[in-house]
Amino acid sequence: MKALDELTFDNRFARLGDAFSTHVLPEPLDEPRLVVASKAAMALLDLDPAVAETPVFAELFGGHKLWAEAEPRAMVYSGHQFGGYTPQLGDGRGLLLGEVYNQAGEHWDLHLKGAGMTPYSRMGDGRAVLRSSIREFLASEALHALGIPSSRALCVIGSSIPVWREKQERGAMVLRLAQSHIRFGHFEYFYYTKKPEQQAELAKHVLNLHYPECREQPEPYLAMFREIVERNAEMIAKWQAYGFCHGVMNTDNMSILGITFDFGPFAFLDDFDAHFICNHSDHEGRYSFSNQVPIGQWNLSALAQALTPFISVDALKEALGLYLPFYQAHYLDLMRRRLGLTTAEDDDQKLVEGLLKLMQNSGVDYTLFFRRLGDESAELAVKRLRDDFVDLAGFDAWAERYIARVARDGDYTQEQRRGRMHAVNPLYILRNYLAQNAIAAAEAGDYSEVRRLHEVLSKPFEEQAGMEQYAQRPPDWGKHLEISCSS
Ligand code: AMP
Ligand code: MG
Repeated sequence: MKALDELTFDNRFARLGDAFSTHVLPEPLDEPRLVVASKAAMALLDLDPAVAETPVFAELFGGHKLWAEAEPRAMVYSGHQFGGYTPQLGDGRGLLLGEVYNQAGEHWDLHLKGAGMTPYSRMGDGRAVLRSSIREFLASEALHALGIPSSRALCVIGSSIPVWREKQERGAMVLRLAQSHIRFGHFEYFYYTKKPEQQAELAKHVLNLHYPECREQPEPYLAMFREIVERNAEMIAKWQAYGFCHGVMNTDNMSILGITFDFGPFAFLDDFDAHFICNHSDHEGRYSFSNQVPIGQWNLSALAQALTPFISVDALKEALGLYLPFYQAHYLDLMRRRLGLTTAEDDDQKLVEGLLKLMQNSGVDYTLFFRRLGDESAELAVKRLRDDFVDLAGFDAWAERYIARVARDGDYTQEQRRGRMHAVNPLYILRNYLAQNAIAAAEAGDYSEVRRLHEVLSKPFEEQAGMEQYAQRPPDWGKHLEISCSS
């Protein structure tokens, strides 16, 4: 276990130099205070969890102090936003403080979001508000606990500094951890600004540090791109299987590691709705829940375009062709497990689709349905769940197919079935209204609800005593909260 001053840095990205990032010091927050910290994320840095409560913790992650070895840098990138190319983006309010390596030899980027203006701030104020910082914190840690690849969050630091969004809010910072903060948009930036040397340097950096095993392949860059395709397909399969809607899948928000990245107006589905749009500025539904699958491929082709200097177009096309089959395989595998199935049959896809259609028509709660399906035997569970459906004849027909399918699947006890299903079907999910309650309390100075919600969501598959209120459908006011993309 380390104290805060014992972190060891190795700032590999900063060493790429000024073509890739700009040195900027954080602008400190007034009266920094700890809102919430993640012990699990602290463990990634070998940090003793007790240090979160010390004043120096809030000073470090509130921008007041820096380690001598830190080298804060704002990264430059660009990207396709809502389908159109924006030539110049970058860390407008975030700073890569440095890369810490832990005892296991892993490097973790420390990235402070809300750290003030940078050369890439454009019209922005360089700040992040408490509301969005709490949302990013809760989501990163909750996705990780569900087994969905994601950036992590170490802590949120609150302050008294006023920040203007639709109304006056308070500024905050979230400390994000990831093994890399390189986005698809980094490659696009050097490609479209016609800087082949820097682009080659970036590609080499990513290959050597993040995809070293691909160097053994005859075409290392192609192997790396294939791996990026597969990781993204797997990540999006998990989003779809668990009802996560990202909301702003611009290529500057897509990680080169295939982890969920840059949380804005995201949402987990309450009622199943394939057409759900969580970002209220996404008028055309480009990033609606079901569109996430084709958009994943669209984003990968934008990256592929930027990789044409290193990989032939035919090979890139072939690798892109792997996306849908990878996605389908991961998605179906997870959905089978969510249904309690251990074997594969050709018609399983139809069984899943049939269920989703019925859930869509009846507005059935996506998370609780699967949890309850495992509570009892298939026969008893469908009897109890039947009341949630409007199309009873349709549900009965589906239930009959499901029961027959479960019977063919194997001979196991209900104990075994429940254990297996509850291990993949969460009881607790980050519902928008739960986040909203925690934010309202935090804005009034009470951080206990954020901390409790974070704790509950860190073990989403485990029933926790006294936490029934976190495993309910939303109340009427919390059903269709409009999430602003201002953050
Ligand atoms: P986002 O929609 O949060 O992914 O941000 C898109 C771009 O706008 C990124 O380059 C951000 O760094 C930048 N940005 C977002 N909010 C702000 C802000 N308040 N101040 C400065 N830059 C911002
Ligand atoms: Mg972004």
